[in-house]
Parts: sequence; C-alpha cells; structure tokens
Amino acid sequence: MSKAILCVDDEQIVLSSLKTQLGTFFGTDYDIEVAQSAEDALEIIDELKNDGIELELIVSDFLMPGMKGDEFLIKAQTLLPKTKKLLLTGQANLDGVANIVNNGALYRYISKPWEQTDLVMTIKEALKSYTTEKDLEFYMKNLEELVEIKTLENKSYLEIVDKYLIASKTDLKGNITEVSKAFCEISGYTKEELIGKNHNIVRHPDMKSETYKNLWKTIKKGQAWEGEIKNLKKDGDFYWVKARVSANYDKDGNIIGYASIRVDITDKKAVEVLSVTDHLTELYNRRFFNETFEKEIQRAKRYNKNLGFIIFDVDYFKQYNDYYGHQKGDTVLSSLSQTLNNQLNRASDYAFRLGGEEFGVLITDINLEGLTLLVKKIKDAIEELNIAHSKSSISEHITASFGACLFESKENITQEKIFKFTDDLLYQAKDSGRNNFIVKEYLEVN
Ligand code: GH3
Ligand code: MG
Ligand code: MG
Repeated sequence: MSKAILCVDDEQIVLSSLKTQLGTFFGTDYDIEVAQSAEDALEIIDELKNDGIELELIVSDFLMPGMKGDEFLIKAQTLLPKTKKLLLTGQANLDGVANIVNNGALYRYISKPWEQTDLVMTIKEALKSYTTEKDLEFYMKNLEELVEIKTLENKSYLEIVDKYLIASKTDLKGNITEVSKAFCEISGYTKEELIGKNHNIVRHPDMKSETYKNLWKTIKKGQAWEGEIKNLKKDGDFYWVKARVSANYDKDGNIIGYASIRVDITDKKAVEVLSVTDHLTELYNRRFFNETFEKEIQRAKRYNKNLGFIIFDVDYFKQYNDYYGHQKGDTVLSSLSQTLNNQLNRASDYAFRLGGEEFGVLITDINLEGLTLLVKKIKDAIEELNIAHSKSSISEHITASFGACLFESKENITQEKIFKFTDDLLYQAKDSGRNNFIVKEYLEVN
C-alpha cells in the first residue's frame, strides 16, 4: 500500500482502539501506523518517507510524556506540510490547540473521549481535502504548460479549475459576471441566481465594513487584496474563505472589473473560535483577553485613540451558589453573559470572561461620558434580568459591581497598570456597598 494514516498516543488502550476503528473504515486503502510517543512517530514518519509511502493524515494525542502533541504536530508540519493533522485532547488543553492552529495548520481537534462517527466523518473529510489540495496543486504547477497545449486538454484543465476553485469575476461596481462551480457549491446558489447580482449577496453581517472599505481601496488602486472573509450561504449558514481579489485590465491598461479566487478555511476558523471561547458563557476567554488587550493598546497608541476598560464581578455570588446550587449559578453566569453581549453593538467591542464570576469589557474609541453610560446600561440590564437572590444583602436580585477606566494609550501605558487601576476601582465599588460602579480616567503621574 502506498498511503498511510499515523496514530500517536501514549496510552496503549487508546492506540489499539484507534487502530481497530480506523482499520475497519480505512484499512482497505490505508496502512494504519501507530506510535506510543511523539519521538517514535517522528521515526515512523522518516521510514515512511524512505519507503515512498504517502502519509496523508496524523491523529495525535496532546498530553504525552516527552514531546507533547503541539510540539510534535508543529514539527510534523515542517516535515510534511500537506499531511492533515488532527489532535485528540481534553477541553483543558486549549492553549496547546491555539499553538498548533497558529503554527501547525491543525485540521481539526476532537475532544476525548470521542464519538466514533464524529472521528470517522472528520477523517473522511480530512482525507478528501488532502486529495483535493493535491490535485489542485498538481494543476496549478502545470498551469503554464497546460495553457500551451491543445484545446481539448486545455478544456479539461478549465473544468477542473471550475470544479475546485471558488472563483468569481465582477464588473467595476461589484456586480457578478462569472462564477465557478465551486463558488455555487459552497454558497448554495445556482449560477443563474448569482450572475448580475452584486457580490455582497454573500456578505455576512458579522464582517466589519472596515474590511470591505480596505478591500475596495486596495483593488481600485490596482493592487491585490488578500484576507480572510466570512461569507453568507443562501440558507443563512456561513463559510470562511481566504480570498485574493485583484483587478482585470483591458488592452490599454484600464481596470474593467475584478476577479477573486478563494480557498475554503471554515474548518480552520472553527478551531480558532473554539480556542478563544469560554466554554460556559461563550464569551471570549482569558487567554484571548491577554492577547487582545495588548493588541488594542498598541493599536490605540498608533492611532491616538482612547480606550475604555470595564471589570465587573457578581455580588455575593458565593452565597448564591451555596443557597441555589452551583448549576443554577452556572445558568446565571450564562444569562448574564448573553445580556452583556446584547449591550455591546460595535464589532470592535469585546466581552470577556476573565475568570469565575468576573467579566471584562474592552471598548475602543470612547469618551468618559460614553463609558459611564455604557457601564450604567450593563449594570441596569443585569438587574433587570430579575434573577432572585434572596441571600444577597444589597438587593433581592442578582447584581454586580463595576470598575471602569478610560485611558489615552500613551508611551508608558501597560496592560498591567490599567488592569490594576480598574480592579482597584471595582474593589472600591464593592467596599462602598456593592451594586455600584466607579468610572475614572487613568492619568499617568510622572
Ligand atoms: P463579592 O460580592 O465580594 O464579589 O462576593 P462573592 O461571594 O461573589 O465573591 P467571592 O470571590 O468570595 O466568591 C466568588 C464565588 O463565585 C466563588 C464561587 O462559588 C463562584 N464561582 C466562581 N466561578 C464559578 C462558576 O464557574 N460557576 C459557578 N456556579 N460559580 C462560580
Ligand atoms: Mg463576586
Ligand atoms: Mg470574584
């Protein structure tokens, strides 16, 4: 056999169950190789390479003695960039997942213990995508030769491009003039439904208008724009693409329209979203907070903008849990998070669960008055949920206390300083009785 799948896990019992399950479904077409450590797996990769066997998929555990799953898959990525990589892991190791998403082109991650159908379906998809990418690469490589050869073969090349490449052409106003079969397939529209319509027919409401402004500015200048875009399907679902958009010219060098080609990156995005999301509340998690806070501070420094930062914490939540039970407590945290999200309406506002029953909000480009109004709005919305809390000494309902800080992002500003300043304001709000807020501007004293 010239194709293989490699499974890596330090637990013998997991390995043999993988071998049996994958053997049943893929054993006729693939060699199922197993390794009990990342180090052994690297040796197997080497041997397969020497024997001319193509390794199409690696399924790896995360926690292993010696080299861990993330380090291993990142190494494997440099050795075998085209091989699809799946990670088997518990919810607790999301940092590692993010690491591989960023550096190791992870195809998907599957939680342990896994559902057999989920694993098999994912592997089928991964192997299919491996083959498609290989075919596409083959045709791309041969593009120049192919366009020179006879019309008949040329036609078959075009058919393949049409089938695999999510491509479209528009006029100067963005009205669609041509689409590929792959475009129709992924968007759910027929060719007839798309031709003549504006390209924004597939625009997803989650996309910022800033992105499109930037796209148009770039392509109107005759430069190519590249970026990741979330698109809307006909049935309301979405898909993510990595797109390249560029201008088409007439003989005299005038722009007559635009063309774009795209690759489907929906799976990659799904993993990215998981790795920055808090499981219970579906808000952004603490890890993403640390990254985003730093990025936004740097961005505000460049553009000379103000930032607003809010921390709030549920009042007497320990008493709530003690009296109503932890599960009810969890439900409170999740409704509160939903309410918080409903109060934020700009794509550039972020809501985080910082830990336990403590939340953070980051707002770009705001003044003291706007920040005060927003804090009050969130505080009122939480109270208006009217969640009974008979053990609270401040109210009959669930309430929260807030610290909020406005700051100009200057040279000396750091994430730590702003966090501490805001956290202190929160504790002052708690000390002054709870169900309360304090908003202040942070001024650097030299
Ligand atoms: P304060 O008004 O001073 O904030 O009082 P508190 O009781 O809310 O504060 P404290 O920090 O002492 O207790 C926080 C409690 O929050 C502890 C724990 O019972 C609860 N908690 C933290 N994380 C979770 C969670 O994920 N789910 C649930 N149900 N409760 C949580
Ligand atoms: Mg609390
Ligand atoms: Mg707390």
